[in-house]
Amino acid sequence: MLNQRSQQLFHQAQQLIPGGVNSPVRAWQSVGLTPSFIARAQGATIYDVDDQAYVDFVGSWGPMILGHAHPQVVAAVQQATGQGTSFGAPTSGEVELARLLIEAVPGLEMVRLVSSGTEAAMSALRLARGYTGRAKIIKFDGGYHGHADTLLVQAGSGILTQGIPGSPGIPAAIAGLTISVPYNDLDAVQQAISQNLGEIAALIVEPVAGNMGVVAPEPGFLPELRQLCDEHDIVLIFDEVITGFRVAWEGAQGRYRVTPDLTCLGKIIGGGLPVGAYGGRREIMAQMAPSGPIYQAGTLSGNPLAVAAGLATLKLLRQPGVYQALEDKGRVLETEIKQLAAQAGVPVWVNRVGSMLTLFFTSRPVKNLVDAQSSDLASFQRFFRGMLAQGIYLPPSQFEAWFISLAHSPEHLATTLAAIRQVWSET
Ligand SMILES: *Cc1c(COP(=O)(O)O)cnc(C)c1O
Repeated sequence: MLNQRSQQLFHQAQQLIPGGVNSPVRAWQSVGLTPSFIARAQGATIYDVDDQAYVDFVGSWGPMILGHAHPQVVAAVQQATGQGTSFGAPTSGEVELARLLIEAVPGLEMVRLVSSGTEAAMSALRLARGYTGRAKIIKFDGGYHGHADTLLVQAGSGILTQGIPGSPGIPAAIAGLTISVPYNDLDAVQQAISQNLGEIAALIVEPVAGNMGVVAPEPGFLPELRQLCDEHDIVLIFDEVITGFRVAWEGAQGRYRVTPDLTCLGKIIGGGLPVGAYGGRREIMAQMAPSGPIYQAGTLSGNPLAVAAGLATLKLLRQPGVYQALEDKGRVLETEIKQLAAQAGVPVWVNRVGSMLTLFFTSRPVKNLVDAQSSDLASFQRFFRGMLAQGIYLPPSQFEAWFISLAHSPEHLATTLAAIRQVWSET
């Protein structure tokens, strides 16, 4: 058995940890395999405990945009570690990171650091509710904003992969405050607003959806959301936990030139350490304690190691040509995959924005969750297994993004495309 050590570990883990994993999608349930336990990674290559090497397109689900164990990030973390790992007191690194985030992301005038994207989205919503004095929120079907109660309604990512419609443990009274409408459907948004006039605190959206697989906003979608929110005094929240520093240095809000009131960040800004951030207009952010009455806190918020890794990562991303390089790699992969699919007669639809891409096993254009769900999951499963056997580590779900990093060389991309050709020639 090639993955004997992973099998042993998974067996032990299942006795000790629910489902054997600390986040559901890692269990590989939707592809019907034992998950590889990872020992180490370097650049674009990830190694499992049985010493198999794979070209990695998961990238820790987004953070590893430089590739794994980038020497400058490792050095920054090592240096910070020697100076103490947590103080529960302010540090200069937090000021530096806040300044960098605010300089980069158009919608940020003030920002607060937290420890995860979940916390960022949860806190941004509390702030929007406290600021407006309203209770209801609008989100989109297949949008994932972490696992806070109000946001786990018609959510994407793992909950979609596992086929769970919502979650037990969330009281109906809370779920009832969340209105979920189809992505890219402005009429549905308008209707939701007019049926709840004066009651909507916030509209939260992934400006490029990443958690039902990649779905780009249709032209006009984001500007129109901006306008509707302005008309109805609704706080517009862009959840850029994936897209921030991924689709452009300025985030999706820069790429599409629409500025939200609040922005959630995470993933890349921690360089692979636990982090999140939320920020936005000064007038709104000033409502947070201790400058205002709305409460949010964290023992490890602004953790020195996470801040060091984040700063090192962002400084490398700030260099000229970085986002063009990511775009170019993405374009190569997209173009070639489409060509291979056409040659092999495999019906697929590829969505890509910059360095995030999803290969949907459907011939229908994917513009929302219903379209994504038209994908043939058996074909996806066969494809995933075939690619893994060829040494390519893809997200183990149809409804997730592949993440391309700066460490993916032309050779890595060529290897990946050769694997796809091979897999499709076998089916
Ligand atoms: C990953 C993700 C989150 C949650 O972040 P965690 O750090 O996993 O809590 C929130 N929103 C989006 C868009 C995400 O992709």
